[in-house]
Amino acid sequence: MKAVVSSHTLGNLFSQVFASGWVPDVLPVVWHAGEPLVLPVAFYRDAFRMIDRLKPAELTITHAFQTNGTLINDEWCAFFAEEQVDVGVSIDGPRQFHDQHRLTRAGQGTFERTIAGVRQLRRQDVPFHVISVLTPASMAAPAEMFDFYVDEGIDAVCFNVEESEGGHVSGSFADAGIEAAYYRFLSEFWQLSVRRPGAIKFIREIEYAIEQVIRPQDAPFSNQLVEPFAVLSMDWAGNISTFSPELLGLKNDRYGDYLLGNVNTGILTDFLDSPNLARMLRDIEVGVRECRGSCQYFSVCGGGEPVNKLAENGTFASTETTYCRLTKMRPTDLVLDAIERAQQRGGGAGEAARAQLARVGAYEGLGRRW
Ligand code: SF4
Repeated sequence: MKAVVSSHTLGNLFSQVFASGWVPDVLPVVWHAGEPLVLPVAFYRDAFRMIDRLKPAELTITHAFQTNGTLINDEWCAFFAEEQVDVGVSIDGPRQFHDQHRLTRAGQGTFERTIAGVRQLRRQDVPFHVISVLTPASMAAPAEMFDFYVDEGIDAVCFNVEESEGGHVSGSFADAGIEAAYYRFLSEFWQLSVRRPGAIKFIREIEYAIEQVIRPQDAPFSNQLVEPFAVLSMDWAGNISTFSPELLGLKNDRYGDYLLGNVNTGILTDFLDSPNLARMLRDIEVGVRECRGSCQYFSVCGGGEPVNKLAENGTFASTETTYCRLTKMRPTDLVLDAIERAQQRGGGAGEAARAQLARVGAYEGLGRRW
């Protein structure tokens, strides 16, 4: 039987969030973890209207869905467009890469159904991006990946590498050459996109790295994943967790189930006093402090992701992970290398950097963050 969050639980969550005084001008709400489209459109229409009724007038709410795309139809497209939902589709590239890991319970590849959902979004002019999990095979094929996106009219891409979380240990991370392969993939993909202006408009890993590397010295930077309640996660039953969203649903000897309370039986602001929060925060702060003292990438990272530190190092109170080397260090290196080439002689990735940086209007006055 499917576990579905009730409107009573959603009402408790949002009324307590709005009453907490923790929300700034905009509250992004992300519906994910489990396939959100298995519930009917009417469920979300009702939920969105209820949230609108509860929210303070001046507060803006944005909604994002992360979906496998297989259930997208006309009705979903109309809903996404009307509600201006930020849609992310999980597709790992062309069939031979996607069907390696994304299978139905019966063991069938889901590529056909996912790409049908992508095409439906395009037909209905619904903006979307894709998230692709890279494997060693797809990392070795940047041109093939690029051509696939361009042929399918996909112009906003985000790359993940299969990571270690909870008890799951990533096979990709065990590959000694993974960092060099990932760097090469991003570099070549970026250069391909510069040679075909307009074909790919957004590569998350490059955009974010540029944003961090070139931000003004005095611009504020925070890592929400290490701040209590900057990210709030709730499961279907109303249980609340914070820090990395992936912690919700995991278990650990030291932190139990990472839960701080339940919005149906407690009050959100009281969860600040949760002993579990204190335990987690103490260890996370130790990890961040050690990162600050030892890592030259701290100014563009802010101490990384607790869930990956725990999975790879066995404790929040730690520093480097394969995950942070892939998601923070190598993209930052790539952008810095490209900037140096752009400044020295242009060409190759240098051209890519110059074009990208010119686009964000930030090439002049560029300064390293360390
Ligand atoms: S890149 Fe890794 S070691 Fe450096 S600050 Fe981030 S998490 Fe810590």
